[in-house]
Amino acid sequence: MMQRLPICEVQTDLEKKFTKNRITILVGETGSGKSTQIPQFILRMSNGTEKIAVTQPRRVAAINLAKRVAEETKTTLGQDVGYTVRFQNMSGPNTKIKYLTDGMLLRELLLRTSLDQYTTIILDEAHERTIITDLLMGFLKTLLQTRVNLRLIVMSATLDADRFSRFFDGAEVLYVQGRRFPVQRYFLSKPVEDIVDATVRTAIQIHSSEPMGDILAFLAGQEDIDKVVDTLNDMIRSLPVGLPELVALPLYAALPPQQQLKVFEKVPGNKRKIIIATNIAETSLTISGVRYVIDGGTQKVKVWRHDLGLDSLLTMPISKSNAAQRMGRAGREAAGKCYRLYTETDYGGLRSQMEPEVERCDVSFPILTLKLAGVTDVLGWNWLERPSKAAIMSALMQLYTLKALDDEGKITELGKKMAVLPLPPHLSAVLLDAYQKGIADAVLDIVSCLSIENLIMNPHPDKRDEVNGKRLPFITASGGMGDLVVLRNYVQHYRSLLSSEEKKEWCKELHINYRAMSNVEDVRKQLESYLKAGSANSKSEDKSAKLGPSILNEQIIQCFLTGFVSNTALRLPGKTYRTIAGGQNINVHPSSSMFDKKVDAIMYTEYMFTTKAYARNVSPIDLQWLQQIAPHFLSRRTAGSDY
Ligand code: ADP
Ligand code: MG
Repeated sequence: MMQRLPICEVQTDLEKKFTKNRITILVGETGSGKSTQIPQFILRMSNGTEKIAVTQPRRVAAINLAKRVAEETKTTLGQDVGYTVRFQNMSGPNTKIKYLTDGMLLRELLLRTSLDQYTTIILDEAHERTIITDLLMGFLKTLLQTRVNLRLIVMSATLDADRFSRFFDGAEVLYVQGRRFPVQRYFLSKPVEDIVDATVRTAIQIHSSEPMGDILAFLAGQEDIDKVVDTLNDMIRSLPVGLPELVALPLYAALPPQQQLKVFEKVPGNKRKIIIATNIAETSLTISGVRYVIDGGTQKVKVWRHDLGLDSLLTMPISKSNAAQRMGRAGREAAGKCYRLYTETDYGGLRSQMEPEVERCDVSFPILTLKLAGVTDVLGWNWLERPSKAAIMSALMQLYTLKALDDEGKITELGKKMAVLPLPPHLSAVLLDAYQKGIADAVLDIVSCLSIENLIMNPHPDKRDEVNGKRLPFITASGGMGDLVVLRNYVQHYRSLLSSEEKKEWCKELHINYRAMSNVEDVRKQLESYLKAGSANSKSEDKSAKLGPSILNEQIIQCFLTGFVSNTALRLPGKTYRTIAGGQNINVHPSSSMFDKKVDAIMYTEYMFTTKAYARNVSPIDLQWLQQIAPHFLSRRTAGSDY
């Protein structure tokens, strides 16, 4: 089976190149065997002496690849083959092939600049152009000058590898021909109104008229995916007799790992599998058996909103390159079909490539990283793609607001600590402030919740009243102090329950994701150890348990304010608020405990745009706190605005 992978046919050639070249760019289509086989080739050609790091932009991919390769090599996961992702380590000192998120490798690089624990570094999925992979390329280019025995392989699933080659002074580009069968593509004659409905109808049409073969559908996000899965599961019962069974499975990053793994399992008997996925299944995960692809034409993309001073997740049209990748998934094992749920004209209007993340996202984390690494001239650094001057300036400003940089733009002691916590700078600022104030115990509960996606789930409309009723006591107990305090009330109650049955049952009643909640506890432990390790000499006794609830809650919000100064808004007449930073109108999201409360000013940790701008995770704030915590922010903002 494994011998049939395209990459195995050129193994000897590749090994020769890897021996000769210190830097190689390897291009091969998804499914050709890059991520699973290349590290094994390297290990075999060195008789098992090399130590190999393979980066992945996504934690799901890092975990799944490690599992798969451990299986292929018949070893126990965590021994010879392992993984390290944020908040989870399954590797040891003897691990020879380690899959890790790009963020974890960056962290290792910052803590141990020479990366001398590895002999080969493989940057996988380089075509995704995440900020962190881009940054790693810059750092590695410099590191290769001093570490003469280090090998670098940059792997990509798309053809435009020239840019990588040029960046690495003309490094050789190798191409692996994938197996490719013809894929027939279909466009719609007119645009769809309802993507969920269109996906369901297309799936049923394929299922009732096309020969066997699994279906892979791409939609932008979890909500639509869950809706399609639910609708299909409802319809499956009423399918005409004689049709094979249809098994619908979701696939997105926030799904519990156990459920993610289901998409790889063969369904026994006369059944057809349909997987409804985000663009996670585009290049980083390979699912065999797929013959039909449904392409919804959109994806969620993190975009920096200059007007709001925030990163937000927007649903956007894909690029032509994404569309080609998606279509390719149908022709891996036999001829296939691809149904694009958009018109040919719309396709013609798509951009050819997505812009790299560094061009559209907040760059405060990379800038802080560079500062920590001792780079003084961040504009002139070795960027694979330099962010715009405006983006760099805005990041420097943010870091200054967070007190990570001083007046001269140098990294502060606080900034150094922020840079090595595995959190975005603003959450690190919150946690470090809490530690200093001696209330880290309380704030850790909340920061851990904010690090986990989809913890609090949206109940189905017909269950909403019932669920809200169950949640109410926790909201009342917050004394109007907002959603962060409510979150902590949930965590504390969860912790007070003794058996896992009780915990599960309680989560179910309140529509809290049980898996996610148990992750919160793990994340908390990890963060606590990072925090203690980073602040060994500044011992302070935690007083969270001793303070009265109202004083504690106030202090918690003040800590959050140090990280979220820019996410504050003042009340206008009516229910609307106006952001202090950008002067934009914003509303409290209906799911918030602050929805019908009237307060002068709010702070929020999340911004969401649907039909209008919404603030989520909202807390009431006192303007005086803002003045105390961030006078440098306020004076800058109010000078030119109309307050
Ligand atoms: P690439 O990185 O080139 O996209 P991979 O090395 O990830 O390719 O996968 C190569 C092949 O290995 C896939 O086509 C698939 O057949 C198989 N494979 C990879 N991961 C799994 C898995 N978790 N379960 C089953 N098969 C897998
Ligand atoms: Mg791969």
